[in-house]
Amino acid sequence: MLEGLSQRLEEALNKFKDKGKLSPDEIKKGLREIRLALLEADVNYKVVKDFIGRVEERCLSSEVTESLTPFQQIVKIVYEELVKTLGGEAKGLDLGSPKPAKILLAGLQGSGKTTTAAKLARYLKKKGHHPLLVSADIYRPAAIEQLKVLAQKIEVPFYEAQPGEKPLEIVQHAIEVAKKEGRDVVIIDTAGRLHIDEALMEELIELKKTFSPSEVLLVADAMMGQDAVNVAKTFQEKVGLTGIILTKMEGDARGGAALSIKEVTGCPIKFLGVGEKVDALEVFYPERLAGRILG
Ligand code: GDP
Repeated sequence: MLEGLSQRLEEALNKFKDKGKLSPDEIKKGLREIRLALLEADVNYKVVKDFIGRVEERCLSSEVTESLTPFQQIVKIVYEELVKTLGGEAKGLDLGSPKPAKILLAGLQGSGKTTTAAKLARYLKKKGHHPLLVSADIYRPAAIEQLKVLAQKIEVPFYEAQPGEKPLEIVQHAIEVAKKEGRDVVIIDTAGRLHIDEALMEELIELKKTFSPSEVLLVADAMMGQDAVNVAKTFQEKVGLTGIILTKMEGDARGGAALSIKEVTGCPIKFLGVGEKVDALEVFYPERLAGRILG
C-alpha cells in the first residue's frame, strides 16, 4: 500500500539525513523534492501546496534552522502535517439514534460498494451489533443477488425486495423488518451507475431525506486517483456525505486519492478496503497511514 509514494518521500527526506545545520535555502530545496514526490503520487495540487506551505513554515522556524541534527525534526513535522492532511483524528462510525441506525452507501458502479456493504456488516457484527443488509439497486438484479450471497456467507440477514417495489419502499420495509427482529443497524446498498447522473443523485437525496441515515458513506476506488476525488466532491455537493470508504487501497502505490480526498471534500475517510475478501476492511486511522507512508 502506497509503496511508490513511501519510497519517493524517503528518498526526498534522506537528502536531509546526516546533515548539520541547514540554511533556509537548503530546507526549501529539500522541500521541493517532497513537493515533487507528492505531485508524482497524483495528490491534488492545492493539497500539496497547502501541505508544503505548512511544512515549510514550521521547518523555517529557528528550532529547525538552528538545530545541529535537523533530520529528525523535519521527519516529525512531515509526519504531523501528513496526519493533518489525512484528517487528523480518526472519526468513528456514527450509529446515532433512533434504532435501527441507517447507513447509506453510495458510489459508482465498480467502486466496491456491494462488497463494502457486506464488509461493513461483518465488521459491525464482530463488534456485537445486529446488522441487516438491504439492496435498493432495482436496476441491477445481479447486484441484489451479489449482496444476498455475501450476506449468506457472513450470516447476516438480508431483506429481499418484493417484485415491483421501489427503492424507498424497499428500504422502508427493510427498516420495519429490522425493528421487528431487533436489528440495530440497517446497511443500505444503493444503485451504482457508470457515471454520475441526475436520476442517481435524486434517488440518493430522496433516500437521505426520507430515512435520515446517521451515515451517508461514499465508497470510492482509490485506484482512480483524482477521478475518485472529483466523484466524492460531486456527491458531497449534491447529496451531502458523512464519510468516505476508500477501496482497493492495497493495490494503490501512489496514494493520490487518500491524501487529497479529505481536504478537497471536507469529509473524513472512515474505512479502507484492502482486498476482495469480506474481512479486508480496516478502520481508518490517519496516524497509522502517515506512519506507513513514512515507513
Ligand atoms: P459495486 O459495483 O460498486 O457494487 O462493486 P463490487 O462490490 O461489485 O466490487 C467491484 C469489484 O471490486 C469486485 O471484483 C470486488 O471484489 C472488488 N473490490 C471491492 N473492494 C475491493 C478492495 O478493497 N480491494 C480489491 N482489490 N478489490 C475490491
